[in-house]
Amino acid sequence: MAKKDSEHQHAEAFRLMKYLCEECKQVEWIWNSRDGVTPFMARCRTCDGSIQHVEWEDDPYLPDFTPPPESRMFVDLSPKRAVVLVRSKIETWWNHAVCPMSEMFESKNEAEKQLLAGKDYASYQPDLVTVEANVRANWIGGTMAKHKSGKLVVRMPYTLHASLIDEAVEEGVSLNSLIICKLSLMLGDTILMKEGMGRLRELLEQAKGSAEDVVVAAVGKALAREHEPDGRG
Ligand SMILES: [Zn+2]
Repeated sequence: MAKKDSEHQHAEAFRLMKYLCEECKQVEWIWNSRDGVTPFMARCRTCDGSIQHVEWEDDPYLPDFTPPPESRMFVDLSPKRAVVLVRSKIETWWNHAVCPMSEMFESKNEAEKQLLAGKDYASYQPDLVTVEANVRANWIGGTMAKHKSGKLVVRMPYTLHASLIDEAVEEGVSLNSLIICKLSLMLGDTILMKEGMGRLRELLEQAKGSAEDVVVAAVGKALAREHEPDGRG
């Protein structure tokens, strides 16, 4: 994060940051999904030691990065998560031997109210989350989409370009609309295909791994349907 990008307020905005564990020496790349500061230290996911931000001059600026599943990334703390973190802090410190929170606040509710309203909330920023399938889906549909301009220059073979123009003229639509339509259809197909593969895997599992059984059963069912008296064979 050598120099600040003029578009952003923070030098570490959208950087892929290198962290090194002091204990187990493992390197972890953590992406900062936002225009906000990041902590110099965090907890190692492998050994529970401390990881430290290293070689920060070389952190690549990747605003379009899609973090891979199981990697971790910095995100803005959601209000829901803030409540969870504040509550767990109160539980830990309420009856603490040295400085119990119970002496500072009238009740746990009051403590929660004040911590959420005050500076303490900010100290939880940013949240460090693991990119699981649902986090990824929410994020791609939400935060990430917000940061996308929706404009993109694509290079392609001129023959493909020419035939796309031909097709657009023939259909009476703009080249842009045609390409969006084709991409959407393809993405839809991929999702359907994935769903289909998932279903097939389920069936294989039910049949305890015998693909032949599954196919025979499926064909048998289809044939039976075809020969039903009121079937639409
Ligand atoms: Zn470690």
